[in-house]
Amino acid sequence: MADVVLKHIQKKYDGNDKLTVTDFSINIKDKEFIVLVGPSGCGKSTTLRMIAGLEDITDGELLIDGKLVNNVSPKDRDIAMVFQDYALYPHMTVYENMAFGLKLRKTSKDIIEQKVKKAAKILGLESLLKKKPRQLSGGQRQRVALGRAIVRDPKVFLMDEPLSNLDAKLRVQMRAEITKLHKELQTTFIYVTHDQTEAMTMGTRIVIMKDGDIMQVDTPQNAYEHPANLFVAQFIGSPQMNIAKGKVVEESGRLVIKISDNLMIEILPEIQAILREKGYLNKDIYAGIRPEYISRVDESQKANEYAVINSKVEVTEMMGFETYVHFSLGDNKLVARVNSVDGIKVDEKICLKLPAENIHLFDAETENVITK
Ligand code: ADP
Repeated sequence: MADVVLKHIQKKYDGNDKLTVTDFSINIKDKEFIVLVGPSGCGKSTTLRMIAGLEDITDGELLIDGKLVNNVSPKDRDIAMVFQDYALYPHMTVYENMAFGLKLRKTSKDIIEQKVKKAAKILGLESLLKKKPRQLSGGQRQRVALGRAIVRDPKVFLMDEPLSNLDAKLRVQMRAEITKLHKELQTTFIYVTHDQTEAMTMGTRIVIMKDGDIMQVDTPQNAYEHPANLFVAQFIGSPQMNIAKGKVVEESGRLVIKISDNLMIEILPEIQAILREKGYLNKDIYAGIRPEYISRVDESQKANEYAVINSKVEVTEMMGFETYVHFSLGDNKLVARVNSVDGIKVDEKICLKLPAENIHLFDAETENVITK
């Protein structure tokens, strides 16, 4: 159990001109489940490996439980790391694999047995203790790797894409198991993934990264509902948020976003006031709406509470309960998530509404959300 604090952490690899991690600061509280998420190459693993002590920190401070550990060796940081490839010893049994780290630390046989049995119970490995890794499924191997970390009672668990070698079904199952494990162990977890669904479902807070920078640190719900910028808006959520470029124009005394000659997006009065105050009139802007907020209206009717689009269905993807409906709006490709019972078909002409209260607006230059 421990707080982990990163203060202006930077990483520059020898031979690279650019910083891989530019300025990473976060205060991770005891018992949090923090997920670092972002596209491949954005510096997630590098950050985790610096916390583990497997990479040098170029600049900044790393504190675990209030103690500066920049120069403390990995084995003395009281952390345990679980890797993507499990890293089990093939010639050892499950029991021996889990006991190995404790043996190296000269822990007594009795204590080792106690800890291995307890971890095996938590992970449902009790009947597999005598087996060798090759006799196990991918999910069972991953559980042994977790067990090896658990027996050490670390202050912090670090996990680097631990589920990416598993098939889709097992991944979903292990996701829930790791969440349960976090609850049981009551320890700080720091978890790296490129998969936004994993991040959203597991993290108490998520850190969304891009090109070595933090884009937003927030609860999954806040990152989804209030993305700080265009990148987060499009990275979090599947299918991703619909985005269209438009211009803020004045129409009969109120501000609207003009996407094309025949489409004006309505916005809330309080947002209109902010746009006026911040000088966005006649400026370009990005408008976004999540696919689930676009819904069908029976006939084309104008209202100040929503904009109406007339379009033709190009593609439908039946997902079971809901269907993703793809359509175009000028040059913009949009998608709506609708209830499958609506039975929307390809080539069908549809009329859809975009409620003003669900529109997100982003500055066209900084790509940051426009708020008070
Ligand atoms: P992620 O985990 O987000 O996929 P990484 O932290 O693994 O990203 O890598 C970030 C960037 O740092 C990548 O461009 C990668 O090529 C580079 N990188 C990673 N390890 C090294 C290294 N040992 N030496 C030089 N560059 C590296």
